[in-house]
Amino acid sequence: MSSYGLTDEVRALRERMKKFINEEVIPVEPMFMRENTEGHHVLQELKQSAKRQRLWALGHPQEIGGGGIPFMSFVYLNEIIGRSHWGQVAVGSLSMQDSIMLHLYGSEAQKERWLKPLVAGEILPSVGLTEPEVAGSDPTLMQTTAVLDGDSWVINGHKWFTSGANVAAFTTVFCLTEPDAPRHARFSSIIVPTDTPGYEIVRVIPTMGHTGGNHCEIRLNDVRVPRENLLGKRGEGFVVAQKRLGPGRIFHCMRWLGQAQRAFELMCERAKTRFAHGSFLSEKGEIQRYIAESAAEIQAARLMTLDAARAMDEGDEARVEIALIKFWGARMLHNVIDRAIQVHGALGVTADTPLEFMYREARYGRIYDGPDEVHRMTVARRLLRDPVNGAPWA
Ligand SMILES: Cc1cc2nc3c(=O)[nH]c(=O)nc-3n(C[C@H](O)[C@H](O)[C@H](O)COP(=O)(O)OP(=O)(O)OC[C@H]3O[C@@H](n4cnc5c(N)ncnc54)[C@H](O)[C@@H]3O)c2cc1C
Repeated sequence: MSSYGLTDEVRALRERMKKFINEEVIPVEPMFMRENTEGHHVLQELKQSAKRQRLWALGHPQEIGGGGIPFMSFVYLNEIIGRSHWGQVAVGSLSMQDSIMLHLYGSEAQKERWLKPLVAGEILPSVGLTEPEVAGSDPTLMQTTAVLDGDSWVINGHKWFTSGANVAAFTTVFCLTEPDAPRHARFSSIIVPTDTPGYEIVRVIPTMGHTGGNHCEIRLNDVRVPRENLLGKRGEGFVVAQKRLGPGRIFHCMRWLGQAQRAFELMCERAKTRFAHGSFLSEKGEIQRYIAESAAEIQAARLMTLDAARAMDEGDEARVEIALIKFWGARMLHNVIDRAIQVHGALGVTADTPLEFMYREARYGRIYDGPDEVHRMTVARRLLRDPVNGAPWA
């Protein structure tokens, strides 16, 4: 395994993380699934426990108080964290892409006000790109505007799927500031505290069985923030967004490995103990095919994720590698959980196992941070330019 970058140090850390996730996080999952306030207190206790055990914020850059673990090593850790949907909140890795963005583009004052408390787990961020009226997969269509009036930006617009806005301290709002510039230089990112007058949470959108949740529709009605809240330069919104989305996508893929591996283990256990038509399910060719195909898909996704992480550690933006793993990983996750549910029969769609919850979350993965089709388009366009030498593995 060492040839894939798993050092003894990371292996030991992974063991400690596994113990924390298995013994402290997974047992309290049913409480979180009930989506009531009881879960909030338990989550605070888990965060404190992770901090005490030095498992907190391990993937955040070291300069801002994190563990500074490189992407490749973090694949091994995040796979373990991702076994539980709540693992990333419990160990302070939920908002890593936002902290990377603020670390790269934030002013000293912005870092002090938003980045430090974010890494410490005291506040949560949110990001507003997607708008209901225009296709989110083509962000050049965004209609939210910001104009400078004296020393303030005045923002007007309508966003939705601003995840976490109802619990966040701020939203990084992407808006049109340079209408006469070329298409990709028209937008800027501005930090908007969620308690600013005119920032309205219209509703928490019910999605796939969640009536609570945190995917918000928001309106920005003449929202006024100081001009210093601009993140990065004017017209650099897409550059800033890309620096957040690249790491964000690979962090998702790492977590999905954990979710898929857990579903896989549940599928195997069930197949070995359920008896039908004269033998255990595990002895039937069709079920063995589910197991073999799932194992192949998980391992392929794991190696592709490690490869993307390697490229990022080498300072590459890894556009092709990340697009590949985003659509492949999301499909793999969906397939593996689907097969695990199938092997469980009716039990698989009940809340008596975590599979039905995992399946609903997995379905989102093929849409958020860019739908599958858009990532396939990115891969194909880039590789078509030079199919032989353009391949990153060539
Ligand atoms: C759970 C969840 C959380 C999210 N969190 C956030 C968040 O925090 N902040 C935020 O700003 N956004 C968030 N989003 C929004 C997400 O990023 C968008 O949904 C996504 O970018 C797609 O935009 P859209 O929904 O407008 O779909 P559209 O752009 O309308 O696309 C619809 C469908 O068209 C097809 N399509 C699009 N382009 C192409 C193409 N070029 N070729 C072929 N087919 C294509 C795809 O099948 C796609 O699913 C979240 C979404 C979900 C589901």
